[in-house]
Amino acid sequence: MTQTIKVAITGAGGKMGQEAVRMVTSTPHFQLVAAIDMHNDGKLLSEIEGMPNVEVRMYNDLHKALTENEVDVLIDLTNPKVGRKHMEIAFEHGVRPVVGTTGFSETDVRELSQMAEEKGLGAIIAPNFAIGAILMMKFSQMAARYLPDVEIIEMHHDRKLDAPSGTAVKTAQMISEVREPKQQGNPEEKEELQGAKGAEYEGMRIHSVRLPGLVAHQEVLFGGIGQTLTIRHDSIDRTSFMPGIRLAVETVMKLDLLVYGLENIIE
Ligand code: NAP
Repeated sequence: MTQTIKVAITGAGGKMGQEAVRMVTSTPHFQLVAAIDMHNDGKLLSEIEGMPNVEVRMYNDLHKALTENEVDVLIDLTNPKVGRKHMEIAFEHGVRPVVGTTGFSETDVRELSQMAEEKGLGAIIAPNFAIGAILMMKFSQMAARYLPDVEIIEMHHDRKLDAPSGTAVKTAQMISEVREPKQQGNPEEKEELQGAKGAEYEGMRIHSVRLPGLVAHQEVLFGGIGQTLTIRHDSIDRTSFMPGIRLAVETVMKLDLLVYGLENIIE
């Protein structure tokens, strides 16, 4: 028999958080035990319009939620400032975090890995939980061996706080593992309008587009002699991230260290 995994969600009232609430409450071997949201403290989820009809208490304080409930896994879908704090609180309570929040620095990830190791607790941070996006990153890494001139264009809804996206940074990191460091473009080029060339990552360029109507999209463009290659992924709905989060919740229960990136838990 599969063991029931008790889950709490921070950012439960947000766009991703609401989707995660629906995913957890509709997964038979998951049990949602607390929803943490800055509003509606003390209410039940069933009292909130658009939320599943479940008698789960809402809190505005993660520490209190983890003290009053037995929790195995915390799903965090907030922002990088509070996301890091939430991971630290989860570790203090012996709870394994699964974090979709983006915008963590490499230092954050390193320090959080150390904390997980000291506590012997599993943790997963993934800047993108959509399987198609993982494939887009892997295919890009393959292509960069042969076509080292790369531009990444990421496009998101205009409410997004961080730029470039965690997925774009992760893609650049994966590409840089196989790509010979190279300064792209004309050495004489001049930016007439500041920012026109985008952000630089080891000579590659990253461009962030923000528009209403978009969800989460990325193109990785490669140029070679007489040819170009474009690898594109589109998340057209936030449900695209839920199978990845579900897998991470199941997997984190078997881990005793921090894993960064969904690609590292997919067989
Ligand atoms: P959102 O709609 O703004 O949701 C964030 C939620 O966090 C809001 O409800 C916010 O409440 C809440 N919050 C802020 N501080 C909090 C705290 N201290 N305790 C509890 N809740 C708190 O944003 P979103 O689109 O859902 O995205 C959330 C995060 O997931 C972002 O970092 C985004 O980049 C990331 N994301 C990741 C993936 C992935 O696959 N990994 C995919 C999409 C998005 P208020 O409204 O009151 O501030």
